[in-house]
Amino acid sequence: MGRDITKCHPRLQILAAKLIEDCRKNGLIVKLGECYRTVDEQNRLYAIGRTEPGSIVTYAKGTDYSSMHQWGVAFDIIRNDGKGPYNNSDGWFGKVGKIGKALGLEWGGDWTKPVDLPHFQLKYWGSTPANLKKLYGTPDNFKKTWKDVYITEKEEAEVVETGYINVNGKTIKIDKIVKDGRNFINLRGLENAGFSVEYNAASKLPILDNKTEDISISADGDIKKARAVNIRGYNYVKLRDITDAIGNIKVEYADGVVILNRE
Ligand SMILES: [Zn+2]
Repeated sequence: MGRDITKCHPRLQILAAKLIEDCRKNGLIVKLGECYRTVDEQNRLYAIGRTEPGSIVTYAKGTDYSSMHQWGVAFDIIRNDGKGPYNNSDGWFGKVGKIGKALGLEWGGDWTKPVDLPHFQLKYWGSTPANLKKLYGTPDNFKKTWKDVYITEKEEAEVVETGYINVNGKTIKIDKIVKDGRNFINLRGLENAGFSVEYNAASKLPILDNKTEDISISADGDIKKARAVNIRGYNYVKLRDITDAIGNIKVEYADGVVILNRE
């Protein structure tokens, strides 16, 4: 059941492939296990150790959408070198976990209740589905926000996602991407949030072709450099650079939402 990674979030598909590849280069043979789970599949797992024989395997009830697997943002792995799918006697899962984390994934081996060595997930919305439930209600609604994956000639893929920033208590929907493990947000979104951020009128905006480059932005009269990438005509600028340029902005993350406060 649930072994189809193509039913998962596009960003997760990319990172799963990268994880397998990076692990292979380090002599770790990884195979994908559980990926996307339907409500029925999650309920069947939940029944094990409760109404069905066996010991408890999950605390997440299917009808509550309380597994990240149901939101298409998690996958499990198994060890595929013939030494046993869950053999961790040589710390194998920790080595894979380290590589996964370097790719920006959250690793279940860092959890305590319960420790989940084979589990990896996207971390943009927090560790649990609470924030996804609040933002989207159901996995089906969430899936509608999964936009196209843009592939460049370098076969580098970027996924434009719906994100939320909270500015002085007001939540604003923005388009964002994650690049090199950092949040890049659509500059237009920040304008919608009431910030006066303008391009330096003196410099023509370069066509960035999905490569990150420094652009000049004029923020409150000062010209600052910011890391940016242009995806299909829209400029995505590194959030940290924007807030550094504007100044007097406190950036916090809570429940997967970026919170900006003018100090
Ligand atoms: Zn899992």
